[in-house]
Amino acid sequence: MSHTNLRAPRVAIYARQSVDEDQGIVQQLEDCRAEVHRRGWHVVAEHQDNDTSASKERGPKTAWSAMLKSFDAGEFDTIIVTETSRITRSLIDVLDIRPPRRDIRVVVIREGIDTERDDFMLKQLVLLAEREVRIKTERAARYAVGRRLAGHPTPGMPPHGYNWVPSIERDSAGTRYRIDAADAEDVRRIFREFLAGAPLAQIARDLNDAGRFTRRNVRWGSTTVRRVLMNPLYAALLPPAQPTGEFDSTAIDLNACTPGAWDPIILRDQLVASRGRLLGVRANHSGTARKWLLSGLAVCAVCSHPVRSASGETHPTARKVGGGAAPSRRYHAYRCPNGHFMRNGDIIDQYISNICIARLSQEDVMDLVAPRSDPIDVGVLNSAREALKGRRQSIASFVARGLMTDLEADQSLVEISTELQGISDQIALAVREDPFAELAVVDDVESWWKSATLARRRLLVDALMVVRIRPVGHGRRVTTLEAAATTVAIEWRRD
Ligand SMILES: [Zn+2]
Repeated sequence: MSHTNLRAPRVAIYARQSVDEDQGIVQQLEDCRAEVHRRGWHVVAEHQDNDTSASKERGPKTAWSAMLKSFDAGEFDTIIVTETSRITRSLIDVLDIRPPRRDIRVVVIREGIDTERDDFMLKQLVLLAEREVRIKTERAARYAVGRRLAGHPTPGMPPHGYNWVPSIERDSAGTRYRIDAADAEDVRRIFREFLAGAPLAQIARDLNDAGRFTRRNVRWGSTTVRRVLMNPLYAALLPPAQPTGEFDSTAIDLNACTPGAWDPIILRDQLVASRGRLLGVRANHSGTARKWLLSGLAVCAVCSHPVRSASGETHPTARKVGGGAAPSRRYHAYRCPNGHFMRNGDIIDQYISNICIARLSQEDVMDLVAPRSDPIDVGVLNSAREALKGRRQSIASFVARGLMTDLEADQSLVEISTELQGISDQIALAVREDPFAELAVVDDVESWWKSATLARRRLLVDALMVVRIRPVGHGRRVTTLEAAATTVAIEWRRD
């Protein structure tokens, strides 16, 4: 009978089923248990991986990685296996368990290895593994350079709008990003709305309300919308390599990007315009997301303050028949911040929507599109910008060669950056979308209006008119469009 020594090693048994062998896990476990018993040690845990199953990765879900965690938690100090091949499915696995990473005592039954007495074998394995890692790293670095030259993105989750194409499914060009139709539409919409003037928060809210979510299946927010608007990958531009884990899209210089080998979702000019606009704006300034058509947009007819949305509550009187009052109900309302009124919002929204639809259905709707008096040539602007950047470069070399003083250089640099800003503004203007533009090709304005985002409808209301809401007598309820027409005044902007 064996005695259990209190200072005896606490042992974890590790067993693994390989693809090409008959001896199963059961046999390995039995052999290990018998050996532990013979030595008078005791088993803390048994771990087993099955490499014949579909997942062959040494991922966080394997028994191997669970065992390492349990060691790190101090639950055992010795691993026992039947053969070294059980530990090293891939040679580099041995690095997980031996110094410098961890110092786990390893006992291998058939090869008579015990690292506490003689770790020569394991040391050889560790040296071989380290060499393999080094070669792999060098190979990966060479491969990364080649991949960049071919315009391929870094492996990993692509941004919203693209799917990653696994190597076996790639075309002859080796394309890695494939456009996902529905997600790409979200991206186009984000650029369209932003360049038409919608606030980030409103764009996010409208996407969420439409049941659209981000790639990680969470609700959109100003930050994620902003990230889309800054991302060069959408214009099929490959940014220069950045330290891993530090991808910062604002730090990317678009001119340092190289052409990517995948299809763009948006135009480079759109990207230039949205970045130009966002880079001048504080990251936390995302505007206000509205829930209703007219909040912050319509004004009080008495004091001209923008109205706010409020939640009204009905106070039903007792019914004549049946007794008891109907339950009170909350409704969408607009109120003057100075207390001039609080009115049911639904009927006003409906009234204003009808007026907008009627106006936009008229034949002269294209006259409403803001005229582009002098068409701007984005190509010319781009070369002007390149030239300015070249001048900035030469100033540095003038200073270095003593041909220019620091003061002169400073003055020139300020001039150049003012000019650069001016050009960026012009580019932004050139590709800015007019909220009316797409109406030119719409047949059914009413259904277009109903499917348009709230941001878009608010932009149109704002472009068309000033809405003034009048107070109505206390307790008077406006429930018909006719009554709404007499209590809401409209002032056209463009007619
Ligand atoms: Zn007022």
